[in-house]
Amino acid sequence: MSTTQVTARLFQLQQFDLELDRLIAEQQALTNSLQANAGLRKLRSEYETARQQLQSGLQTQKEAEWALEDLNNRLKTQEERLYNGKVGNPKELQSLQQEVQRLRAQQSRQEDKVLEVIDAAEALQEMTQRKAQALKQAEDDWQQECAALLVRRDQLEAKQQEVQTKRDNLASSINAELLKRYDTMRRTKQGRAISKIEQNSCQWCRVILTPSELQRVRINSELQTCTNCGRILYYDR
Ligand SMILES: [Zn+2]
Repeated sequence: MSTTQVTARLFQLQQFDLELDRLIAEQQALTNSLQANAGLRKLRSEYETARQQLQSGLQTQKEAEWALEDLNNRLKTQEERLYNGKVGNPKELQSLQQEVQRLRAQQSRQEDKVLEVIDAAEALQEMTQRKAQALKQAEDDWQQECAALLVRRDQLEAKQQEVQTKRDNLASSINAELLKRYDTMRRTKQGRAISKIEQNSCQWCRVILTPSELQRVRINSELQTCTNCGRILYYDR
């Protein structure tokens, strides 16, 4: 086998290996998305927060309404006492009148407060509904997406097997020592042990080869490496 034929095989082997790297990376990313959907988690926690805020808003509303009811009752009792003519003592009447006035002022303030908390609870109710809808929508979308992701995962697995078979067949036609050197280089050189020569330059690092270097790559029986990046050079013409 000529040097060019050997490097051509190594180059093709590298193409398969790079494709396998890509397929494995995509599968990994896919597995990650299947396991964790950050967007959905965020929506779930937003909905949960909104629901808790609504509950405490409704509790505040109930308490404000009870306080108002209590005031109404106290006012009614005091007004009855004031107007039923049973209290004759002027001093007592005066203090009763003052008490009724005080309660009326308090009642008016409490009525405002109740309206305020009702508004707030309604706003919380709307927000909770919006969050619930967004979550439901995202969950439905996720269901569909999952189905698509599972289909894609099967496709990737099939493709990976196909490329792996081609790769193994090709590898079996390459000298074992050379294969070992190639594997080691791929690990230390960002997955690229072989660099093609294009326009008289190393495709990887772009260093320009001298005419004698080019000549050696073409005719020498030893594999030639790039003087700059150290990768095995492959010349396909
Ligand atoms: Zn180079």
